[in-house]
Amino acid sequence: MSARSDRLPSRHLGFAFAILCAAIACMLAAIAPAQARGEIVSDAQIKAAVDKAYAATKGITAGKDADYIPALAEVPPDLFGIAVVTVDGRIYTVGDTDHPFAIESASKPFAASWVIEQKGEQWVEDTIGVNQTGLPFNSIIALESHAQATPAMNPLVNAGAIAIVSWIEPAEPKARWQTIQQLMNDYAGRALDVDLTVYRSEAGSSEHNRAISHLLKGYGTLNGDPEVALDLYTRQCSIHVTAQDLATMGATLANGGTHPITGKKIVSPAAAEKTLAIMSTTGLYETSGTWTWNVGLPAKSGVGGGIVAVAPGRFAIATFAPPLDAAGNSVKGQKAIELIVHDLIGSGMFDTGR
Ligand code: GLN
Repeated sequence: MSARSDRLPSRHLGFAFAILCAAIACMLAAIAPAQARGEIVSDAQIKAAVDKAYAATKGITAGKDADYIPALAEVPPDLFGIAVVTVDGRIYTVGDTDHPFAIESASKPFAASWVIEQKGEQWVEDTIGVNQTGLPFNSIIALESHAQATPAMNPLVNAGAIAIVSWIEPAEPKARWQTIQQLMNDYAGRALDVDLTVYRSEAGSSEHNRAISHLLKGYGTLNGDPEVALDLYTRQCSIHVTAQDLATMGATLANGGTHPITGKKIVSPAAAEKTLAIMSTTGLYETSGTWTWNVGLPAKSGVGGGIVAVAPGRFAIATFAPPLDAAGNSVKGQKAIELIVHDLIGSGMFDTGR
């Protein structure tokens, strides 16, 4: 018997064993969500979780389109899309993820990240504030807390977000707008448009935000002309994104401020992480506590129907579904993200891997 024929069976056995191990690993990756903890998550896990959540929440009809901005009341309420983008640039989408919608308040963290980067963490903490307000997004009471030693305000409520826009440089309005637009384009990795219908509609019904802008000026929190800050804030909220854009923007924060596909460094990891910190305490306004309890991830909603949730170091999920709850958060989007996060990473950033 030759040495060769002796070795052949064991070689075959070794090969078969390796194939068996690989097959078991693939099966486990596809069916056992706990395997994903501490890692980015596989394509199969994302697809299974997203498809399941889409099917489970598609029929939800609760909630109502925003109508205090007249153009938003016109958006078909049954549009629904979910997109996931990972920090290594993988994309999975289902439903109406190419349908553009107004980013609204989901733009606030990205603008905030820029000012955190430019002016520094301490400056933002001292000047704008980083505390949960426990109040609706357009509350004036939150702003009045500037009279206190520690303001109950932050860059993700209207008052803080208008102040943030006022501090973006350069001061000249056209050039400042270019900075804001370029920033949002960089986060999305493509050139975004402003929805002029939404912009005009919101600009024509922004008495409340106008009052906030002028009060901010009175408190010395707003830089320059309050009317300019209000206008640029309104434009920023009217930027058109798709769910896929929003997930990509979130994935850039998840990736420490560097775009996962273009590779462009937009803000530093420190600025991205501080942005996620405020998203975790106040991303869904007065119901942020309930959100963090149920989902466990930093997130941001907008009255255009978008929500973006970020799993730091791993991926972002964005949903688009216009009908909102009383706090202004998409009903379907919240539920869909909750289901996906539970399947992929259990209790989100609080998951102990148990
Ligand atoms: N542009 C909107 C406003 O200022 C944003 C509100 C939101 O999305 N929650 O009212």
